[in-house]
Amino acid sequence: MKIGFIGLGNMGGPMAANLAKAGHEVTGFDMADVNIEGVTMAASGAGAAKGADVVITMLPNGQILRAVADEVIPVMNAGAVLLDCSTVDVDSARAVAEKAEAAGLGALDAPVSGGVGGAAGGTLTFMVGGGEDAFAKAKPLFEVMGQKAVHCGPAGNGQAAKICNNMILGVTMIATCEAFALADKLGLDRQAMFDVVSTSSGYSWSMNAYCPAPGVGPQSPSDNDYKPGFAAELMLKDLRLAAQAAESADADTPLGTAARDLYAQFVESEDGNGKDFSAMLPRFEKRGRG
Ligand code: NAD
Repeated sequence: MKIGFIGLGNMGGPMAANLAKAGHEVTGFDMADVNIEGVTMAASGAGAAKGADVVITMLPNGQILRAVADEVIPVMNAGAVLLDCSTVDVDSARAVAEKAEAAGLGALDAPVSGGVGGAAGGTLTFMVGGGEDAFAKAKPLFEVMGQKAVHCGPAGNGQAAKICNNMILGVTMIATCEAFALADKLGLDRQAMFDVVSTSSGYSWSMNAYCPAPGVGPQSPSDNDYKPGFAAELMLKDLRLAAQAAESADADTPLGTAARDLYAQFVESEDGNGKDFSAMLPRFEKRGRG
């Protein structure tokens, strides 16, 4: 396929490289001066999008996505697909899809989980919102860039799935970390705590697969001095998107809001920036109730 790829950062760069390696003809654009193996660079977003069967965007936020979409939609061929893989607010995803569809294009929002390692290894999971036809057209690309693509319904539903999942993740990580810190103060050994909880009703992905206590459970960022992994500031971004969506949908999400506030404090006023999101455990273990 002829692919335009806009936003070749930590995630987009390796995703574009994998598409080129799989034999697709990839033309890329990024505001920064980047070079990606196998990708021909264009001088603008419109230059990368012109004549493409699928235009993929992997950008920092919804505002930038809206601006890039306004630039590329007018130059895209009728029937081509605009495939946004960024994590953005649901409202921006739906607004961009509406504009693309009004111009005779297919549109998909397909945020990912799997991080930079998943992007490089081609093992991302895509959560996809948008029409059946567009999903079918993009499927071979999902297969190159990832190992799983779940069609979640109409436009915006991919973003909805992503932020609901990550809201659960943020809340369970905090709960797991505060429980470990409490267990410490009660004299309960961390390994014993893991052995019980990971096989009892308090288990979760945060405990079982990504245990925040170093040396306990499977290998995780806690065993590597809390180097990300999944950075606390990215968790904060997703929790803010969840809170924004909850506000716009009039949903009551008290724990999601509390998790957002705690990660904001951790990242912006404490030493959480640049650390894995599981570094909430050393944060709690140093604190008392005051
Ligand atoms: P990044 O900052 O490394 O990359 C974004 C790229 O977009 C940069 O290279 C930037 O120069 C470029 N860009 C910005 N504005 C542009 C414009 N107008 N035109 C062209 N290029 C432009 O970020 P990333 O880590 O690659 O993340 C990209 C998206 O993926 C984000 O929405 C993020 O939330 C999401 N995401 C990231 C991870 C992760 O682990 N990094 C995991 C899942 C989802």
